[in-house]
Amino acid sequence: MAFWNKHKKVAVGQVVSKLQMEQVKSDIIINSIDDGVVLIDAQKIIRLFNPAASKMTGWNQNEALGLDYKSIMRLVDEKNNPYREDQDPFNRAFTEASPVRDNQAVLVSRSEKFLSVTVSVSPLLDENKAVIGVVGIFRDVSEERTQERQRAEFISTASHEMRTPVAAIEGYLALAMNDNVSKIDSKARGFLEKAHASTKALGDLFQDLLTSAKAEDGRLSNHPQVLEMDQYLEQLTQDLRFAAEKKALTVEYMVGSGGAGTGLIDARDGNSKVIAPIYYVYADPDRLREVITNLFDNSVKYTDSGKITIGLTGNNQVVQLYIKDTGAGIPAEDIPHLFEKFYRVDNSATRTVGGTGLGLFICRKIIEMYHGRIWTESELGKGSTFYINLPRLEANKAAQMKANQPTDVLPEIQGATKI
Ligand code: ADP
Repeated sequence: MAFWNKHKKVAVGQVVSKLQMEQVKSDIIINSIDDGVVLIDAQKIIRLFNPAASKMTGWNQNEALGLDYKSIMRLVDEKNNPYREDQDPFNRAFTEASPVRDNQAVLVSRSEKFLSVTVSVSPLLDENKAVIGVVGIFRDVSEERTQERQRAEFISTASHEMRTPVAAIEGYLALAMNDNVSKIDSKARGFLEKAHASTKALGDLFQDLLTSAKAEDGRLSNHPQVLEMDQYLEQLTQDLRFAAEKKALTVEYMVGSGGAGTGLIDARDGNSKVIAPIYYVYADPDRLREVITNLFDNSVKYTDSGKITIGLTGNNQVVQLYIKDTGAGIPAEDIPHLFEKFYRVDNSATRTVGGTGLGLFICRKIIEMYHGRIWTESELGKGSTFYINLPRLEANKAAQMKANQPTDVLPEIQGATKI
């Protein structure tokens, strides 16, 4: 018996010292890393605050511990607007009970200094999956952001300067191929046609680079107005259908079919006599056209046969547009990256079809400008659907906005909850 007790004691002692060692190890790591680490409990009180967090916020560990995190972790956006509750990554990790990452945040220090940071917040869950706290890790990325800005400025200036001569070359090539102006043989025509196609691709690339650089630093021109989506989309479908019909694809416009997994109620179907709800949004029609045209052109590019559907649906808060095709589909592992800059799926379809990988990035930037959300659902070999949710403008409000100066009501829309 004494033998077992002795051994049990040794075993317990080992576990305790091992745990103590683990504790010491994690303390060493937390205290020595360059990233700020903060632990916040369910009452939103700071329970852990490492030296890097002190350095970045300007608050001593002793001062920060026990305080509400909001008084210490003050976040603003790139234009120095304080984060709303639904933007705050700490608050979001509490409400969404899943990890949240924010790559665009700016931290305001105790002495009102602004520091560009990335913030990753992970919730701590109990056995019932209730959030009992969150751990936030934040990193100073001021240098990276400055470099990014300089890069964007360079790209924007360079593409602007290069677009002009490229447009001139494209114009002269078109003149050289015009029978009324020039006489060329069929061999020369073949060469010029190839040169013209490549010049056009180059011009498109410069245009996309310029637009994405502007979208990144908020210089994209934006003249929002009240838009009635049914009329707008129906007209746009008519304008776009030609490109698809050249490839023998059917084009249809649908109102009221939300599609699987969208969680939206059908407003009406194509044939019913129910009075159609009127879907108003507040956006720049030219910018929205750019997004829908881009999605539609992609559907045409990546669909060999079948149908492209442009659809409109919604509920009280949301107007949903979607573009659905019966094309190649997108592999599941690529879907999370599609809206990143320069991302292209690497397969035979994309290798043969030209593109820059900037289109969907630009779409996302524009939709986010209107507090909307864009995403895709796709099945390989069956097709893809791209969804856009925009905040719905109530009919009375829309009428009032149309009558008044549009800028009067803009701040209210900007404050809309993200959908
Ligand atoms: P690209 O200029 O390459 O078309 P985008 O940003 O518009 O760039 O699209 C990114 C990638 O997403 C494309 O390269 C393609 O692989 C994929 N993709 C976009 N739309 C579709 C679609 N409707 N069907 C299949 N793949 C698509």
